[in-house]
Amino acid sequence: MIVKPKIRDFICTTAHPKGAFENVKRQIEYIKSKEKINESENALIIGCSTGYGLSSRIAAAFLKGCNTLGVMYEKEAKNKRTATAGWYNTAFFEEFALKEGLYAKTINADAFSEETMEKVIKIIKKDLNKISLIIYSLAAPRRTMPDGTIVSSVLKTTNEEFKSKSLNLETKEVFEVLIPPATEEETKNTIKVMGGDNLKRWIEKLNDADVLEKNTKVISFSYEGPDLTHKIYKDGTIGKAKQNLLEATNEINKKYENIKAYVSLNKALVTQSSAAIPVVPLYLTILYKIMKEQNLHEGCIEQAYRLFKEKLTKNPKLDEKNRIRLDDYEMLPSVQQEVKKAWEKVNTTNLEDFADLEGYKKDFLNMFGFSFENVNYDEDVDVNIKIKSLSNEI
Ligand code: NAD
Repeated sequence: MIVKPKIRDFICTTAHPKGAFENVKRQIEYIKSKEKINESENALIIGCSTGYGLSSRIAAAFLKGCNTLGVMYEKEAKNKRTATAGWYNTAFFEEFALKEGLYAKTINADAFSEETMEKVIKIIKKDLNKISLIIYSLAAPRRTMPDGTIVSSVLKTTNEEFKSKSLNLETKEVFEVLIPPATEEETKNTIKVMGGDNLKRWIEKLNDADVLEKNTKVISFSYEGPDLTHKIYKDGTIGKAKQNLLEATNEINKKYENIKAYVSLNKALVTQSSAAIPVVPLYLTILYKIMKEQNLHEGCIEQAYRLFKEKLTKNPKLDEKNRIRLDDYEMLPSVQQEVKKAWEKVNTTNLEDFADLEGYKKDFLNMFGFSFENVNYDEDVDVNIKIKSLSNEI
């Protein structure tokens, strides 16, 4: 099948297996160019197939030599439909890991369901005995609650309407967007999906099953960003969920002596989830330009490398709210002052002067396996790629 990108709004509905291979290979090569940290441990990555979760899995495996068990929610190829990018990424990740002699298995199931948790516990008991690292990198649009009801997360402001500049990436137009405030119900539901309740359930289950080592580390990811985006992010529905995630992390630390849980504030980056947040793509294109000019730009893999190399040391350096700061470069005054200046001036006519549209677009397409210069996109490609651990080959 010949696979081309099919972009609808902020998502690409096709994925290219050869490009996904390239994406995973390049991330692994980056990590392997670094000096190894010889601290192999058994790791569980929840949300392991794209974005921050995939890069964390790659860094855990190829930097530290970790055995990794991943949980994701992806789709296999069917009829004329390609698999999702995360499916291909995982198939190739497993292949690379196995070649290196590293254990790698993946569960493709809903990380909100009790059944998935039980399945994970069973596999840990059978294959690994115990784990000591948990990365919680879930970004989900909805959650099926234990009673079967389905709740959705929304990306809205809270309290009042928010008027802001925004970017239409298709037409390259800067326009004014009016984001309505969420209802109380919508905010509550967003917290249920993206907050800390599900993380607490996972930890309780894993701890009760006695599969956690004495010194287990739990890391989940969050974001705050500058004033410019606070109304839609930090003070918006997603920000309320992230506040709840931080509270859950503090509760976990109080409740379990054997666990040290951290929230890491990461850099804003193009991922399948962040592309969907209103206003954020304009901020990202401006941020990319400035951070590249200042030689500070990073992608998910560079962030994942710094997480293990610099931040998760024996005595992790935390901020006043006990958080890891991987957004340290993004939040430098030298970066944010320039972002603010650019934000005030940017409009449709001068967009290219202030925003890295090309960089954003390339990163976006790369996520789905497109726009790699060494992949021939006019060539027929087999889209039916198997994931070894899911087809019982290992
Ligand atoms: P992403 O969309 O690339 O990854 C989401 C992952 O969650 C995928 O592996 C997907 O398969 C999995 N997933 C989704 N629903 C699932 C379900 N029901 N069951 C099992 N797996 C499921 O997102 P991302 O941007 O890498 O986000 C990961 C985390 O990082 C989120 O908590 C996000 O808020 C946070 N974060 C993102 C940014 C950013 O700019 N992208 C910045 C800071 C923090």
